[in-house]
Amino acid sequence: MLQKKKKNQGFTLVELIVVIVIILILAAVAVPSITRYVQKSKIAKCANQRHELATQFQIMGTDVPELALCTLEGEVENILKKDVLDYMIENGYCSQDITVCPVYNEKYELEISVENGQQHVEFVCQCVDSVKGYVSTCSKYYNEIIKNGNKNPDRKDLLSKVADEKGFMKVSDSIKSSTLFILNFISNFRLSA
Ligand SMILES: [Zn+2]
Repeated sequence: MLQKKKKNQGFTLVELIVVIVIILILAAVAVPSITRYVQKSKIAKCANQRHELATQFQIMGTDVPELALCTLEGEVENILKKDVLDYMIENGYCSQDITVCPVYNEKYELEISVENGQQHVEFVCQCVDSVKGYVSTCSKYYNEIIKNGNKNPDRKDLLSKVADEKGFMKVSDSIKSSTLFILNFISNFRLSA
């Protein structure tokens, strides 16, 4: 006669603990890369939004021709009698949600430059995938640390924070420990602060 197997009475405590530990390990590995991925996609979204706004600005130039002659941001504001993005929202050139950076929740700023007599319009953001955005984020953190009373911030920590936030820029250990590089950065912050 075959002996019946003991009925399965669910998980034992040890099995549960093993499962929980595995889940925690997976989460610890996955969360930073997910955060970085989300950050990267937000930066890409920001770039798309700013591109769309610049296109809409050109379209607006066919309705308000004086805009195409502006060489300074202030001139645009004088013509429109208000902030350019507010004007664009109110007059249906764009929706409000694309006027704000998905990373920083800050409104974009208009930047006009003239090259070879050609007007070049850009909506700028500090999250932009460039050295400018990188230094700007470094500077933001540095000022925060100084404001909190820490006169001697951990440089490695500062750069790691920037690398995490920017997502796209990996800071190697050799860069982190390179005093000359860091000192150059820090002195730049002091000058711009
Ligand atoms: Zn942005």
